[in-house]
Amino acid sequence: MFQKNKSGLTFLLSWFLVSNSWAIESGVTPQIVVTQLNDYLTFFYDGRNTKPTDPDNWLFGSALKLGIGSYAIHQGEKAIIYDTFLSVEHARWIRNYLEQIMGIKHITIVQSHWHLDHIAGNEIYKDRDIVSLKKTREIMKAKQAALEAGEEWGLPAINPMIAPNMVFDNRMDMYVGDLKIELHQFNIHSPDANLIYIPKDKILLAGDALEDTVTYMVSDHIPELPVHLKELQRLKAMDVEKIYPNHGNPDVIRNGGYKKTFIDATVNYITRMIQRSKDANFLQTSLEEIIGDSFQKSWVSLFEPYRAVHKMNLDLVQKYFKDKSLPDLGTSEDTAQCAYVDDFTQGFNIPCVKVDNIIYNAKLKIESNNTRFTLLDAQVSNVPPTAVCATFEQGVVTLPCVYVGRTNKLPVRLKPVNTEAGLAFDLEQ
Ligand SMILES: [Zn+2]
Repeated sequence: MFQKNKSGLTFLLSWFLVSNSWAIESGVTPQIVVTQLNDYLTFFYDGRNTKPTDPDNWLFGSALKLGIGSYAIHQGEKAIIYDTFLSVEHARWIRNYLEQIMGIKHITIVQSHWHLDHIAGNEIYKDRDIVSLKKTREIMKAKQAALEAGEEWGLPAINPMIAPNMVFDNRMDMYVGDLKIELHQFNIHSPDANLIYIPKDKILLAGDALEDTVTYMVSDHIPELPVHLKELQRLKAMDVEKIYPNHGNPDVIRNGGYKKTFIDATVNYITRMIQRSKDANFLQTSLEEIIGDSFQKSWVSLFEPYRAVHKMNLDLVQKYFKDKSLPDLGTSEDTAQCAYVDDFTQGFNIPCVKVDNIIYNAKLKIESNNTRFTLLDAQVSNVPPTAVCATFEQGVVTLPCVYVGRTNKLPVRLKPVNTEAGLAFDLEQ
């Protein structure tokens, strides 16, 4: 609940002032709960409270039924909002809250991906900069007529559809005051997943790349599921401590967010869905049969309406793979041991290294001679490894595989050496 505030009257007045836009309204009444996650991160959440009489469309029957959030990253009078929510009514509510209650004057929108429940409020920010991946804008422009006619996912229509006006590819940094915000492109859930990483507190805003109870598969993107799996491993190699998704359990989000095991749960779900897709009784496979172990370990939690999402996922996966040979997804051990690095000069994270039965997460940075890595950060991991870790034996750390870029898979052996600056590792060719 947002706190009672002396400026409540101003808040109501401004509501009417901003509400004279000509966008098509969705007919939804926002019931947004506001939670301050830390001194610069605010979480807006609505949903998991629909009535049996609500229309069965993408807004009420899907997004609100499952629950949806958006995030504002703010410092002083500036804020970045990660997604404009699922209606102009919601976007107007949040904009008013930020401006009237929190005193924010400069808002920039960052879009997580093109899906309707994330862009429907853009019209409220047509006087502000809207930043997205180049691909997000391309998809939105290609689908503009369908979105405005309510023919993409059906009604309600998004009309007018306001496209992002600032685009980038792959990576970009933004600053809110002195807080660094990294934008990273992934192909997970959709080809235009733009995830926010905040290095200061190792926070990941995951958009829809990670979803609790399970990922919501969209028919356009089913052929890319094997790519999503590889990209999830690249995501796992990032140095992340707290994960905040757009669709998740609000109690988990309000209590410190998800751990990296959220990524493992997503990998397991997609992998097992594909691997079992030719089973005779596949369409009857329950959520528990696919990821019951993730529920038991509390990596994700079962929210009953996700059974309907799972059923749609089963249909989509079976329909796509029934006439095809299954892709080689590797074993989970294979993928879990891999480290990922886009560029060796930036250093890379080792997901886990086991030394004398203690598990460490570590970051290595390469030195100028290109064969020696300095250890930047090694911490004992609180999270049990989900598969085999790299090993430290007979004086050598063996990483069975490191992905350089997204495709070149190399085995790497590192020999520890003591230097003046401390422990370092030489690459064993
Ligand atoms: Zn989505």
